[in-house]
Amino acid sequence: TTNNRVINFGAGPSALPASVLAEASQGLLNFQNTGIGIAEISHRSKEFTAFVQNLESLIRTQLDVPPTHAILFTQGGGSNQFSAVVLNMLARYRLLHPEKKSEEVVMDYVVTGSWSKKAAEEARRLSGGSQVNTVVDSRDHSLAQKKSFDNIPPHSAYTFSPDPALIYYCENETVDGVEFSHDPQSASSFPFHLLPQDQLVPLVADYSSSFMCRPIPRLGDHAIIYAGAQKNIGPAGLTVLIVRKDCIVDVDAAAKLGAIPVPIMLSYKTLADSKSLYNTPSVFAIYVTGLVLERMKEQGGVPYFEELNRRKQGKVYEVLREGEAKGVVRRKVKEGSESWMNVVFDVVGEEGGGAEKRFLEGAERNGMKGLKGHR
Ligand code: PLP
Repeated sequence: TTNNRVINFGAGPSALPASVLAEASQGLLNFQNTGIGIAEISHRSKEFTAFVQNLESLIRTQLDVPPTHAILFTQGGGSNQFSAVVLNMLARYRLLHPEKKSEEVVMDYVVTGSWSKKAAEEARRLSGGSQVNTVVDSRDHSLAQKKSFDNIPPHSAYTFSPDPALIYYCENETVDGVEFSHDPQSASSFPFHLLPQDQLVPLVADYSSSFMCRPIPRLGDHAIIYAGAQKNIGPAGLTVLIVRKDCIVDVDAAAKLGAIPVPIMLSYKTLADSKSLYNTPSVFAIYVTGLVLERMKEQGGVPYFEELNRRKQGKVYEVLREGEAKGVVRRKVKEGSESWMNVVFDVVGEEGGGAEKRFLEGAERNGMKGLKGHR
């Protein structure tokens, strides 16, 4: 039965719709009337390959992905992409600039929270002598005394390199509750206008924790957008990549010119050439994600969910503002930089009074779980 489920606020793998889980349980027994369960069927069967193609078109249509971009599926989560984006984009740069020495190559990182910080650290590990430039570190713009990731910095703070191999940012910082605004007029929007307007920009975005909750601004201007499925659209095990086709390069040709060799499974070309079926994919994760996206489409797609999410975050932040006025809670993130997806706040109260514990117990009594986590 599905009626004994609680309200799950967990920011890790997120709650999946009960109707999808019920349908998926049937699919475990019998996938699309093949008489074979989804976990047993060959990933090369015509039924499954058609399912993958349909998943691609569900994403393409709902996010309005232009034909300039491929949609690829892989495994290894967001963390694997911290490495893959570096290796593929360094290979691309090597092919474009065979004469440049590694030390002359720069990768630009916008650091606005724990995840982009981690991605920049991986770029340093894999740089092979190239430089990693911190375009901006939002801790330098923190309002808090103990400098923290609590804001999106003002546009004037960004210094991009003249010709970087990649420019990296994380749209929604899950741990810190900081997110770029999608309103281009907002001071907390991504400064697209500071990037060159007349060439293909190597812009890479981690959308792991906000994927498909609303349209992606300037999607077509991105080189790579990636997201692990598990936050918003399915179970862990599936990673979605939207890659501009000029970034799907022959990594072996680049290695011959001195680029770092790219493991076969991290190469976007491997994924593209095999239609994302180079090896056995996470069949079940792909299946459930397909069911979630079919349901999204029926309900009105990304525009419908954008409106729903706008209302949800509006209500939650309204309550928090009221709570703050009463001295019951403390918001952590600067106004305008707050995430729609991960709402971080402290429950305050009299010194040593155990207010947070009482809040969590009250929530639990009302069937709400997963509220305690990061902050
Ligand atoms: N990027 C963001 C924004 C995340 O929230 C996470 C995980 O929480 C990751 C990357 C890492 O993703 P994964 O656990 O799929 O490797």
